[in-house]
Amino acid sequence: MVQWCDTTVSRDGVDLAVRTWSADKSPTVILVHGYPDANHVWEKVAERLSRDFKVVAYDVRGAGNSSVPQGRAAYKLRELRDDLHAVMDAVSPDEKVHLVGHDWGSIQTWESVTDPGAENRIASYTTLSGPCLDHVGQWMKARLREQKIGAVLNQLSHSWYIGAFQLPVLAPALWKAGLAKAWPKVLRRTENLDSEPSATQLQDGTHGIELYRANMLPCLLKPRERHTKVPVQLIVARQDNYVRPAMLEDLSQWTDRLWRRELDCGHWGPLLQHPDVTADWIREFIQHIDGAPASGPLQRSEVTTSQIKGPDSGKRVVITGAGSGIGRETALAFARRGALVVCTDINTEAAAATARIITAEGGEAISRKCDVSSTRSMEALAAWVEKELGAPDIVVNNAGIGLSGSLLDTSVKDWQQVLGVNLWGVIHGCRLFARQMIDQGRAGHIVNVASAAAFMPSRMLPAYATSKSAVLMFSECLRAELGDHGIGVSAICPGIIDTPITRNTRFVGVDNEEQERRRQHAHTFYQRRAFTPDRVAQAIVEAVEKNRAVVPVSPEARGMQWLGRFTPSLARNLAQVEITP
Ligand code: NAD
Repeated sequence: MVQWCDTTVSRDGVDLAVRTWSADKSPTVILVHGYPDANHVWEKVAERLSRDFKVVAYDVRGAGNSSVPQGRAAYKLRELRDDLHAVMDAVSPDEKVHLVGHDWGSIQTWESVTDPGAENRIASYTTLSGPCLDHVGQWMKARLREQKIGAVLNQLSHSWYIGAFQLPVLAPALWKAGLAKAWPKVLRRTENLDSEPSATQLQDGTHGIELYRANMLPCLLKPRERHTKVPVQLIVARQDNYVRPAMLEDLSQWTDRLWRRELDCGHWGPLLQHPDVTADWIREFIQHIDGAPASGPLQRSEVTTSQIKGPDSGKRVVITGAGSGIGRETALAFARRGALVVCTDINTEAAAATARIITAEGGEAISRKCDVSSTRSMEALAAWVEKELGAPDIVVNNAGIGLSGSLLDTSVKDWQQVLGVNLWGVIHGCRLFARQMIDQGRAGHIVNVASAAAFMPSRMLPAYATSKSAVLMFSECLRAELGDHGIGVSAICPGIIDTPITRNTRFVGVDNEEQERRRQHAHTFYQRRAFTPDRVAQAIVEAVEKNRAVVPVSPEARGMQWLGRFTPSLARNLAQVEITP
């Protein structure tokens, strides 16, 4: 067992109990514990890190062997921040330090890390299960603006105890009535963890309540904009019952450089269940920040290298059919808002070209080949995205093909192809990525590109219109289901949009020459209509922002929706007209 030494750092009448491992090593790593813990919660991680670093863990005020100052104001974040600075000055007066925080230890460390100029004193920060309270306030405001109330309610339902802690007598009384003694049992039952009873558990539990009372409401109700230039590593505990992973999704907005890694465990799991992994990740990160090359997994965990900062910074967007038309413009639109875009298409070169346009603009994109009609190809794409990037925030199921001609001229193969791409492609995209979003607690959004042909029948489009009206209904069903998980679903019905689709649409029941003539006519007609795909992309971005259910984009799409809904018999009559380009 690695030996440590105990000392005391005093500030403003408060004595902080400080434990140091490997005092002769450098650089210094300071570990800050949460509630209702004391510095011993770090033991396993500290021992592992002390092979390479000087490691310091201290009892925060009110916990363990540190003083217990009186009065709520003594537990304000600024006091906790000043304690941390006193410890930093005592243990590493001349060198920058690396900080690691868990739970409330992380919350209070954020206060230091987001101070202007923090990068001059703090070399790196690894945060576990404790967000900056101002970021949480901003996250809630953003979700309410986007009408993603489900995501906010989900987090609030996991934070019920914060409300209970505001009540005068109840929480301290519970600790005194036996919770302190029963705490290891509570952890075993709720987190499946074995932990040692602590001699100071009663004190840690009762005094720490002041942390909640002094800081929660002011920060959440009036959140400040807190940015940091300190490199941040976020370790997400996927099954954290208190800090839901979805709440951490906007973090890249507040950081210059962010790495994100995920562990399959609960709130205390990284410290008590997976100390080896946690210590390895902290070590690797610190050594990289201090100049060592990043390993492959560390490289891939860096959230974004996009030079574009925008409302979608840090988000991962997957788009099918991104090699052309609406898909390409949508990829560009999200990339210009700071998102990392995965451009997929059956046409490898076209997808790569879209990704190249994005990177040339300073955005971030990856291209992947994928045939949406193939179960295997879509499953491979989803597995790759999950492994390399984690669950996406936004999925746009856009890939589609046109087919025109009567039922009697449409072969089984034609049907299979149109339904395979236009309907099955959407079903695969939804079932695979919705699963990932739910499993990883991501309040994401799915956009399915349908068509105005979904609103009105046409004798010339039995296969295409059927596939698109199925997409519309499917999207509505899904929206009803996924809303419970904070995932929005939108169906987009563009209209007549000038894209290369007219060049590829198949006209069945005619010879090649006639097909070419019809394609050329359709192309000229769509060009004259001059409604460009960037306008559909804009409608898609807005549909995500405002969580819109069904979006008819162009005036004719709105007209067709109106006709289909309010004058169905007129729509039926129009359906009989044979419109041949
Ligand atoms: P487009 O032909 O310009 O782009 C479609 C893209 O999908 C192409 O890059 C193509 O390679 C890709 N693709 C085709 N089959 C695929 C498959 N099996 N797997 C993966 N990718 C595949 O067409 P667009 O106009 O941009 O169409 C995009 C979507 O918008 C389609 O779903 C289409 O039905 C729909 N839409 C278009 C219009 C319009 O007027 N252009 C109108 C209504 C709806």
